[in-house]
Amino acid sequence: MKILERSLEIARAAYPSTYKEKKESLHWSFIWKKGKLLSLSTNDKRTHPLNSYNSKYIEKGRCSEFNGFIKLRYISPDGPQWHLCTLVNVRIDRERRVCNSRLCPACQNLVQYLGIKRIYYSTNEGNFEKYL
Ligand SMILES: [Zn+2]
Repeated sequence: MKILERSLEIARAAYPSTYKEKKESLHWSFIWKKGKLLSLSTNDKRTHPLNSYNSKYIEKGRCSEFNGFIKLRYISPDGPQWHLCTLVNVRIDRERRVCNSRLCPACQNLVQYLGIKRIYYSTNEGNFEKYL
């Protein structure tokens, strides 16, 4: 699918070279509607204070999906007709490899609430998996 390839291309191209030293991976969310990119967003790198208690289970900062939804809320009071949108998640690691970007439990609930029907996320094998 074309929007999957395009999402991957953009995420790879935009990976900040400064992250390499910090060993970071970056999580992207792309929201497409009829072949048009409405929003691209990354996860928030701010560390949540609770991370110091259990970094394995608590998300760092705010998710990229969440940041994308916040942006698009302002297009209209009802959102950008979510049922016509496709959400594409991509994670790129410090070696610019594609890795798993499955939605976290909070974002899984959020997409259900918004009514987003088509969702894809990248896998450690470098492919995309359809969510739902
Ligand atoms: Zn999330």
